[in-house]
Amino acid sequence: MRQTDMKKLNQMYEGKAKKVFATDDPDLVIVSYKDDATALNGKKRGTISGKGVVNNQMSNQLMKMLEKNGVPTHFVEEISDTETVVKKVTIVPLEVIVRNVAAGSLSKRLGVPEGTPLRKPVIEYCYKCDELDDPMVNEYHIAAMGWADDDTMKKIATYALKIDKLLIAYFKKVNVDLIDFKLEFGKTSDGTLILADEISPDTCRFWDSKTHEKLDKDRFRRDMGGVEEAYEEMARRLQNA
Ligand code: UDP
Repeated sequence: MRQTDMKKLNQMYEGKAKKVFATDDPDLVIVSYKDDATALNGKKRGTISGKGVVNNQMSNQLMKMLEKNGVPTHFVEEISDTETVVKKVTIVPLEVIVRNVAAGSLSKRLGVPEGTPLRKPVIEYCYKCDELDDPMVNEYHIAAMGWADDDTMKKIATYALKIDKLLIAYFKKVNVDLIDFKLEFGKTSDGTLILADEISPDTCRFWDSKTHEKLDKDRFRRDMGGVEEAYEEMARRLQNA
């Protein structure tokens, strides 16, 4: 039985991995997670069967944990395996990346081998723009372009580091190292900044703590095989978190 009393209306938006539907409550939308996967900014496409279910459930479990620990999120109510009611926000057009261990684009850019621990977490910002391939920007670009004001950026950095600490500890319990991840924030109609989007193997790098086996979308990006199995393994481990 749903706690949220609202009707699903028209589709507002279809992204690479999710669809968003309007509801008859102007402050709520329904996110529907798909099995579709893209990488290399849409140049590589495929399907990861079962991914929609894993990402929906994992993201909701993590957002609930973050809420309990004082991080405001968009989560309202899970209404099916692949669908969740969330607060409607205007997205701050930034990908907020937090890194604990060198990997991916940081390793390439700085010539640091993947797996090198970082002395302290690194926050990076990318401007969300597919045509420009999400270029990396800094706080000066963000202020100069008016994408977010200084107060919003201070809050984003504080939340990002708090989320990092909470997620590291949470995944440690199930023998997973959190290498890096991407967050998105948004503002509700009353201007409150909250965590939005998803936290899943699509948006995080997860390595088994002992074997360093990759349990995330890098298996798809890098054609490593065992993609579905990795998503399922993360879902299985989180049942014990
Ligand atoms: N990431 C993401 N969406 C993007 C780009 C990156 O969710 O459009 C996540 C990615 O899964 C990883 C982290 O952000 O956990 C850092 O990614 P990186 O900059 O290394 O980019 P990549 O090597 O994936 O191109």
